Amino acid sequence: MASWNLWHGCHKISAGCAHCYVYRIDERHGRDSSVVAKTGDFNLPIRKNRTGEYKIKPGETLYTCFTSDFLLEDADEWREEAWSMIKTRSDVAFFFITKRIDRLSLCLPPDWGDGYDNVHICCTVENQDRADYRLPIFINAPIKKKSIICEPLLEKIDLSPYLGPWIDGVTVGGESGEDARACDYDWVLELRRQCVIFNVPFHFKQTGAKFLKEGKLYRVKRQFQFQQARRAGIEFYPKSRP
Ligand code: SF4
Repeated sequence: MASWNLWHGCHKISAGCAHCYVYRIDERHGRDSSVVAKTGDFNLPIRKNRTGEYKIKPGETLYTCFTSDFLLEDADEWREEAWSMIKTRSDVAFFFITKRIDRLSLCLPPDWGDGYDNVHICCTVENQDRADYRLPIFINAPIKKKSIICEPLLEKIDLSPYLGPWIDGVTVGGESGEDARACDYDWVLELRRQCVIFNVPFHFKQTGAKFLKEGKLYRVKRQFQFQQARRAGIEFYPKSRP
C-alpha cells in the first residue's frame, strides 16, 4: 500500500485527538499543526514518468490523508480537484479515514451517486459517544466500501447496532506516545465478540503504548505494538459474507 498525503494539518475535534501523532511530530519540528496546507504530493495519482505512464501503477492502493482528515473544512477548496484525480484513476483504490463523517454529504462530487467503486472510507470511533454519533450517519451514507476503526480505543464500545454486511471490517488499536491512555484487552475482545456475532472481519492492529491485560499494565515499545497484537492471534475473517 502506497500513501498519498494531499494536505497536512488538522484540528482536534474529539477525545481520540487528544494525543494526535500529527501534533506530536509537528511539535518536535516547531511546526503548527493547525495550519493546513497542500503538500507537494497533491497531484501524485496523476503524475507520469518520462514514458508517459502513471507513476502510481494500476491496481495500487493509496492510503490517503494520513496527517490530516480528507473531510476537513480547511480543505474544502482543494477537494473538488482531489475527487477529479480519484475519478481519473479509477484503476487505483483510495482509502481514507475520517472523524468527520458528518461532513461527507457536503463534500461529495456531483456524480458520486452511491459511491465511487475505488473509494474505501473508514469512520473512526474511539468511544461509545462518538460511535453513537458518527455510525448512524456512516451506515446510511452512500459509500461502496466502509470500515470502522476503533483507534485509539478509549473504552468498552458496543458496536452491535451498527454491524452487518454493510461493514467491510472493524480495526482496533491502542494509543501511541508518552502520554498514551491505556487500552484494555477486554475491550478489544468484546469488539471481536461482536464482530463474530455479526460475521464482520475483525483486525487487532496494535496494542498501543500502554496495554492492560488481566489487570496488569504493560508498557509496549512502538516497535513491538503491532507484533504483540498479531501474537494475540485474534484476527477474525469470516469464510463467507453476503
Ligand atoms: S482528526 Fe486525526 S489528524 Fe485530525 S487532529 Fe484528530 S487525530 Fe489528528
